[in-house]
Amino acid sequence: MDGIKRARQQVLEAGREMLKKGLVAATWGNISCRVEGENCIAITPSGMEYDILTEEDIVVVDMQGKVVSGHRRPSIEVPLHLHLYEKREDIGAIVHTHSTYATALACAHKHISPIVEELAQVAGGDVRVAKYALPGSQLLATNVVTALRDRYAVLLANHGMIGVAKNLKEALKVCEIVEKGAKITILCNVIGQPVPISFDDVQTMRRTYVTDYGQRET
Ligand code: 13P
Ligand code: ZN
Repeated sequence: MDGIKRARQQVLEAGREMLKKGLVAATWGNISCRVEGENCIAITPSGMEYDILTEEDIVVVDMQGKVVSGHRRPSIEVPLHLHLYEKREDIGAIVHTHSTYATALACAHKHISPIVEELAQVAGGDVRVAKYALPGSQLLATNVVTALRDRYAVLLANHGMIGVAKNLKEALKVCEIVEKGAKITILCNVIGQPVPISFDDVQTMRRTYVTDYGQRET
């Protein structure tokens, strides 16, 4: 199977998973991944329901944003995805959701502290809020890259959140765990004050997660 076909299938699958996990409603959010061996990305089409998408609906664009394969209009957030890939060579996939609790914090312009183990592990620290800019704008792309820095998740003020990772499976996991972390943060604020895990412990947990956690090839 060629790289483009594989990337299209992975984006399609991630879209269905994102919907199943309740991280988006209707057509909002978007997903992309790098195409292996090619200088382009596969990305969801703009404004289409995830459960009716087929492989052919996934659009392939080059690093300048030109459509190289597909007959649909790509997501309006192509500039944002391309800017992230340009600035973060370590990432291979991006998932953008409008999940409820993460968006609630994003609307209050409140970051998410690393208060629970899995959030510290997948996000690598606190999840900052990128300054507001209109959806689809180049300014939004700049603000997101600025706020994300070397982390793996970021909130978009008055909009939603983004998870990035080496592949789509991991990027989706980041979104799921950030949503759970946002929910815990809000609950915590109802009963008291969230107490963040120390910087050193967060660093250690992130390192262990990347290098040692789970089942490993021997
Ligand atoms: P698209 O349907 O064009 O991807 O836009 C949805 C969205 O979430 C914009 O931020
Ligand atoms: Zn959005």
